[in-house]
Parts: sequence; C-alpha cells; structure tokens
Amino acid sequence: MTYGLISDIHANIEAFDAVLEKLAGADAFLCMGDVVGYGPDPGPCIDRLRSLPNLTCIAGNHDLAAAGLTGLGRFNPHARHAIDWTMLQLSDDHRQYLARLRPAAYVEDAELVHGALPNYMDYITSPDEAMITFAEMRGSLTFIGHTHVTECYRNRPETDYCEQTGSPKGIIIELNPSFRYIINPGSVGQPRDGNAEASFGLYDIEARTVALRRVPYDYKRTQRKMRRAGLPAFLVDRLSQGR
Ligand code: ZN
Repeated sequence: MTYGLISDIHANIEAFDAVLEKLAGADAFLCMGDVVGYGPDPGPCIDRLRSLPNLTCIAGNHDLAAAGLTGLGRFNPHARHAIDWTMLQLSDDHRQYLARLRPAAYVEDAELVHGALPNYMDYITSPDEAMITFAEMRGSLTFIGHTHVTECYRNRPETDYCEQTGSPKGIIIELNPSFRYIINPGSVGQPRDGNAEASFGLYDIEARTVALRRVPYDYKRTQRKMRRAGLPAFLVDRLSQGR
C-alpha cells in the first residue's frame, strides 16, 4: 500500500497536476492542508483533490480562513489579500468542503496535522520545536506541512535525542522501528526552500520508506494567472525563486 503525500497546494493547479502525474500509481492520498490561499486556482484544486482515491485531507490555516471560520489576524498583508480574493472565487460547495475539513486525522499508523501538536497551527522549524510535538504523539509517525520546507525529524523514544534531515533535492527516509518520526513533504504549490520545483512524498507502508521528491512545473503559467487576478507581486515572484 502506497500513500501519496501532499501538502500546501495553495491553489496552484499547474504544480498540483505535475505532482499527481508522478503519484499516479499511489493507492491512497494524505493531504496535510492549505489546499487554497496564495494561488490563482482554488476551485479547480479543490475539485482535483476531491477526485483522488482514498483521500484523507485535514485543514490548514488558509483553508479555515477562506471558509470564513477564522479571522485574518495572524496573516500578513499579502496572505490576507489572497484570502479575500479566494473567498470571492469559491462556490458554496467549495466553501463547505473546506469548512468540513478536520483539524487532525489518523491513517494506519500515521497521524496528520497541519503544523504541530498540541497546537495544530504552530510551526516546526527546529529539533527543539519538534520535541514539543514528539511529547504529544501517540504513535511513531506524524506527517505535517505548514512550513513549505521538506524536513524529517527523528527522535529516539524516551530521550531528548532529535535529529533533523532534509534537502531541497529530496530524500529517501528508511523508517527505523527504534525511532519516531515527524515528516514534512514540503509544499506542492509554494515551496520555500530555495527550489522552485513542486514538492511531494510517497509513503510505502510495507517497505517502511518515505520518499520526498521534487518535480518541475510551469510556474510561469501560474504567475501569469496570478498577475491577471491582481494577486500581490510578492506572491507571484516567490514562485520562481522557491522562497
Ligand atoms: Zn501553507
């Protein structure tokens, strides 16, 4: 059984389609939230996501804001502008889909949250921050998103030992039963680790491996759509920089 790992699609259909082509053989899909926000195609991305087989998707902060469930106080002006624009594009059906996304989920032996535990919208960017989540984990494997950076944290149970690995080029993680893991497959639609290619993962539950991979996509097309939609130049430019 293989799971496609996707997170932070951010309404980027060109990046999402490039990733789905690479994940065509996956048996099921796990999505760690932020389907919309920033990008120019929120509705098409929700439709594409809903068409995936055996999908489990949880809510990101942008999904909840676009559904009108949370305020925009914690968003910077660019993100806020994009959420206001996104809300105008969504149909009632799309809005309801986002509003129904759960904050966390368990699938097989893995837990899914957008950012961290116990506060789902916190960020994990260091081993110290990862240890807060490890202390709350019930199982040995948690998939996250939110930072838009490919990352793996590995902790030896009952100790403070935590190791951080990750590479903008991708990595293959062999899950060792002596450790617990927090794994972020990076962002499909707005990578921020210096590589503009779309980021995603594949979890093979029998082989006990998680492959974090990259695929190029036509970001110039996405940028043209964003400019036409009047989305902030900062958000347009960062797609070509992967920052
Ligand atoms: Zn995000």
